Amino acid sequence: MTDRLLELAQHPWGRQLLNALGLPQPRRLPRRDGPFMPEELAGRPVHLIGIGEAPLLSALTQTVSAEGATVVKDAQSPVSTLVVDATAVHTLDQLRDVFRQVQASQARLTPGARVVMFAADPASALDARLAALAQALQGFARAMAKELGRRGGTVNLLKVGRVPHVASSATAEPTAAAPHGALPLLAGALRFFGGDRSAYVSGQVLQWRSDAAARQVPDPGAPRRLAVVTGAAGGIGAATARRLSLDGFRVLCVDVPAASEALEALAARIGGEALPLDLTAEATPAALAAAIAAQGPLDLMVHNAGITRDRTLARMSAAEWDSVLTVNLAAILAIDEALDARSLWRDGAREVCLSSISGIAGNAGQTNYSASKAGVIGYVTRRADQLRDRGITVNAVAPGFIETAMTGRMPMMIREAGRRLNSLKQGGRPDDVAEAIAFLASPQAQPLSGEVLRVCGQSLLGA
Ligand code: NAD
Repeated sequence: MTDRLLELAQHPWGRQLLNALGLPQPRRLPRRDGPFMPEELAGRPVHLIGIGEAPLLSALTQTVSAEGATVVKDAQSPVSTLVVDATAVHTLDQLRDVFRQVQASQARLTPGARVVMFAADPASALDARLAALAQALQGFARAMAKELGRRGGTVNLLKVGRVPHVASSATAEPTAAAPHGALPLLAGALRFFGGDRSAYVSGQVLQWRSDAAARQVPDPGAPRRLAVVTGAAGGIGAATARRLSLDGFRVLCVDVPAASEALEALAARIGGEALPLDLTAEATPAALAAAIAAQGPLDLMVHNAGITRDRTLARMSAAEWDSVLTVNLAAILAIDEALDARSLWRDGAREVCLSSISGIAGNAGQTNYSASKAGVIGYVTRRADQLRDRGITVNAVAPGFIETAMTGRMPMMIREAGRRLNSLKQGGRPDDVAEAIAFLASPQAQPLSGEVLRVCGQSLLGA
């Protein structure tokens, strides 16, 4: 679907017109596609700031260089990614230092720049004073994200529970202090949040478990890892299946039998396999488990299929309630139960469930949908704990307004509001969600588990 306002805002005369009418002027977002590269940030000018002892700074600098970026040291050159180690902010003076140093760098940020902040986790702070400072940084990051969004830029903050001791060189052997090397773990954070694959992810605060190294399961490294994507004939599902195939996954594409033709065509294009299955059918979990068992074990499960049946609570039928809860939540539980029972998951596997900002904020006319998507969040949080020892990560991705058939069916005025009610003033693309899923599926995302990654341009809903 064309976003005419976005098109208009790309012309100087269009911007003048929008300005005169007091309408938003969204920027075209810089994006990156194709498979993940060894030097993901190649050629990107990156500036790093450390506050106080800044225990991660040297590892972050080495990681940025290892990812192919150019570390900018002078005070004038343009900067596309700003990385801030604020993990050792222990005083209000140091908090002011964050403000002063980030402010000094801001004028150098290119349009569509990325800011990645690392901070302590308030929940594991030694006392209330340190918790206040750690939480203050989150407020700073979220507010800055709203300002930078006007220029297509993003700000995200990663809470680091226990700041790891890190090896002193990018190629250093693991040391006793960093048993499996903390550097590769920081690489994941930088390559996604610090690069253009996270174009529609902003204002997010996520737990980056630096101690995940201790439980890191070696990447199976099989040439064709096995993935399942449900709802693969739809907008986000098809984009995800395509994207995963680029990273070397063999994708089993699941959707309703009525979508068989589109499903077959997609599977043929990406060298995957079409599995026409209705997730609401009682026999489906067993049929899917059998298909996986024939090729498994499973490296990645993407529970993406979802439906809406919007109606106010007073007018909602039991059938509308049931169908949404069955597809969006019950099917996930039933499939996982079948896969767990047959031990089909590989150690170190990944699971990603599609939630929604409606599951965080609630939405009028969507008691059924919001309940199902909030249920998904509860599920991944608890399931991540259960599977952590096997190195299996379980996360939710919560899209905001994404341009797909689902949002295309919205009434025009609601659709237009959905597109603009975020810091980037535009809808996201299915590929933006696919990139987030591909990142969560990658070995570098091991420190993220039990999290909700919003791909919503910092939507005002549920912020
Ligand atoms: P879509 O309607 O384009 O695709 C959904 C797919 O799921 C369809 O191909 C459909 O056939 C399939 N499906 C539905 N019921 C099924 C069943 N019983 N068995 C098998 N397959 C079934 O939707 P989309 O926009 O690509 O959404 C994908 C996911 O993202 C959904 O879970 C949705 O709730 C979530 N989401 C989307 C948005 C958005 O803005 N598009 C926002 C938030 C969350």
